[in-house]
Amino acid sequence: MKLLIPGPVTTHRSVRAALARDFAPWDAAFQPIYHGLRARLLRLGNGAQATHTALILPGCGHFVTEAAIRSLIPPGGRILVPMTGAYAERMARLAREAGRVPVPLPVSPVAPADPDSVRRALLADPSLGHVGLVYSETATGVIHDPAAIGAVVRALGRRMIVDAVSAFGALPLDLAAQPEIDAAVFTANKCLEGIPGAAFVLARADRLAAGAGQAGSWSFDLADVAARLAQGEGPRFTPPAQVLAALDVALDRLDAEGGPPARLVRYRANSRVLYDGMRGLGLTPVLAPHAQGPIVINIHAPADPAWNLQAFVDAVKARGFVISNFYNTARPSFRLGAIGALRPADMKHAVDAIGAALESLGIHERKAA
Ligand SMILES: *Cc1c(COP(=O)(O)O)cnc(C)c1O
Repeated sequence: MKLLIPGPVTTHRSVRAALARDFAPWDAAFQPIYHGLRARLLRLGNGAQATHTALILPGCGHFVTEAAIRSLIPPGGRILVPMTGAYAERMARLAREAGRVPVPLPVSPVAPADPDSVRRALLADPSLGHVGLVYSETATGVIHDPAAIGAVVRALGRRMIVDAVSAFGALPLDLAAQPEIDAAVFTANKCLEGIPGAAFVLARADRLAAGAGQAGSWSFDLADVAARLAQGEGPRFTPPAQVLAALDVALDRLDAEGGPPARLVRYRANSRVLYDGMRGLGLTPVLAPHAQGPIVINIHAPADPAWNLQAFVDAVKARGFVISNFYNTARPSFRLGAIGALRPADMKHAVDAIGAALESLGIHERKAA
C-alpha cells in the first residue's frame, strides 16, 4: 500500500527498519543521534550554530507551531497571517487560543501571496510584530515565497514565523540570508520522508532568549528547551527515540539523493505525472499549471452524480494507493500528494489506479462539479 497523501508519506523500508531498536534516551548510544540530528537539520536550513538553534519536540506540526508562537510572540502580540488556506487558518487559531492576536490578511487561494499586500498591511499597522507564513499551503498546493515576503518583513523591522511543514527537505530555506525569520517549523514525516512523531524548529537563539518566560506553557516553552541544551544537557522530556533514529536514516537517504534540490526535482517530476495524468483522465486540476506547486495536487470533484469521495477513496485503495478522504478547500476537491519515497513510475501506476477506480464507479462526467 502506498500513501499518496501530503503526509505522513510513504517511507523507504530502511527508514521503517530503523524503528526496530530500543533506546534509553540519555544513553551514549542515543545522544549522538539526538545531537547529530540537530546539527544536520540546522545545516539543511542553512542556519549557523552561532545564531540559531535546532530544537526537537515530540509530537506533530501543530504542537511545534504553537510552541513557536508562544515562545516568540508575547501574550497579546499581533501576528499578520496571509490566509493562504486551511493551514493558515490553523496557525491563526493556534495563535488566538494561545492569547496572541492573529490578524488575517486575505490572499488568493490559487496564487502565491503578494509581498506588496504584506507590505501595505504592515505599514498600516505598526503593532503587527510578526508575520506568520505557510510556505507550502498543503490545502491548495500553492507554494508561497518566504524570501520575497521576508524581504518586506525585514525592511520594515518586523519578524517572521514560517510554517515549513510541507516544504522543509525539498523547497529551499536559507536562514542565514533571512535574519527576520524567528523560527521555521517542520516535522519528520513530510518532505524529510521520516516516520511521524517528531517535530522541529530552527530558531534564532537571541529571539528565544529575549522571550524567555512568556510561553505560558512549560511543555511548549522553546526557550526552556534551548536553555537546557545550551547548558550541555540532553532532551527535557522523553524524546521519540525510534522516530529520531529513523529520521537519521531518512536524512542519509536525503544526502544520497543529492539533498533538497535533487529531492525537489523528483517531486516536480512526480507532480507533473499526477497533474498531466489527471487531465488525461478528463479531470480538472484546481490550480493553473504556472501556480501548481510540487507537493500537493488538488483536483476538482467531478460533476457526475455517481461521484462520492469515500467510495472513490475506497476504490483507489483497492488498487494500492491511499488518498485523503476529506475536502479542505471551499469547493470540493480531492488531494494527491506528490511527496514521499515514490518516483514518477509510482505516480504513473497511481494515475492508472485512479482511472480504473473512476471506471469502476461509472464516473463519466469528469468536468468540475
Ligand atoms: C502537515 C502540516 C502541518 C502539521 O500537521 P500535523 O498533523 O500537526 O503534523 C502544518 N502545516 C502544514 C502546512 C502542513 O502541511
